[in-house]
Amino acid sequence: QSKRNGRAQATLFENEMLRDQKHIRYIERELRAAILLNELELAYQPIVTAEGRLHGCEALVRWRHPSRGIIPPVDFIPIAEQSLLIDLLGEWVFRRACRDGVEAGSLFIGVNFSASQLKRDDVVTMVESVLAETGMPAKRIVIEITESVAMNANDGVIRRLAALRALGLRISLDDFGTGYSGFSYLRAFPIDSIKIDRSFVIKLGDSEADNVLITALASVANAMGLSIVAEGVETAEQMLLASTAGCKLLQGYYFARPQPWSDIQAMLARGGPVRIRATEAA
Ligand code: C2E
Ligand code: MG
Ligand code: MG
Ligand code: MG
Repeated sequence: QSKRNGRAQATLFENEMLRDQKHIRYIERELRAAILLNELELAYQPIVTAEGRLHGCEALVRWRHPSRGIIPPVDFIPIAEQSLLIDLLGEWVFRRACRDGVEAGSLFIGVNFSASQLKRDDVVTMVESVLAETGMPAKRIVIEITESVAMNANDGVIRRLAALRALGLRISLDDFGTGYSGFSYLRAFPIDSIKIDRSFVIKLGDSEADNVLITALASVANAMGLSIVAEGVETAEQMLLASTAGCKLLQGYYFARPQPWSDIQAMLARGGPVRIRATEAA
């Protein structure tokens, strides 16, 4: 009886795997075409100072599928990461972000890089040539890598990150706090800023302990000369608590959703320090 169950389960599992593999290959083919057909686009989410000034934008990729509508990155980045497609996609994203951002004054542009992009020896040459081609100054680019990428980084990855920094790009540790990398680890890693994961920001205000945790994190980061960004700020209370805790930069729906580059340009064209206040986003 139990043997039969076991076998039945195993078979089911295999079928699902098979279907998944097929599904993955299908998406891969479609995604490859999408890159060539220019069906990908970038949405830019403002990153603001605690005073509400526009500091930078994070570029977030979307797939505008002809029949399925807008597909979010969680639904195709992991698939792209299972194949070499992520390199093609990553280069497309970086080039688009540089082209868009080049005429945007002193605005920082954040670009997410996947682990596999940094595992390639030619990533530094790719970045250099796209910067040269687009005229984008290196110092206005912030490369975001997740804490888990950083934790699993081998010597090659660290060397490449250091090389990118030497070119003038900044490196930011994304989703910080989800990977238990710790402070001593931060000290040894070539980064300029950290982004506190949304899951911590959500808890702000829940208990004194959560506030204390972020305050401690921010004070260590600030003392190390790292700037610290609070991700996923959705309410006025979270904004207040995050900035009080020492997060000098803030990002989240409370300020602005990811939006087309033309909206960012319009924001910049309003001139001066841009103040972004609570939008109707909820
Ligand atoms: P991430 O880099 O941590 O990006 C932040 C995500 O949080 C974005 O989701 C953004 O829309 C969302 N977000 C921002 N503010 C709020 C908020 O107040 N509340 C909530 N609930 N969410 C908020 P998105 O655009 O769906 O991207 C998801 C993830 O996909 C990103 O997480 C990043 O890891 C990955 N990703 C996006 N674009 C790229 C890319 O071009 N390359 C790579 N390798 N990964 C990308
Ligand atoms: Mg990011
Ligand atoms: Mg993030
Ligand atoms: Mg995150």
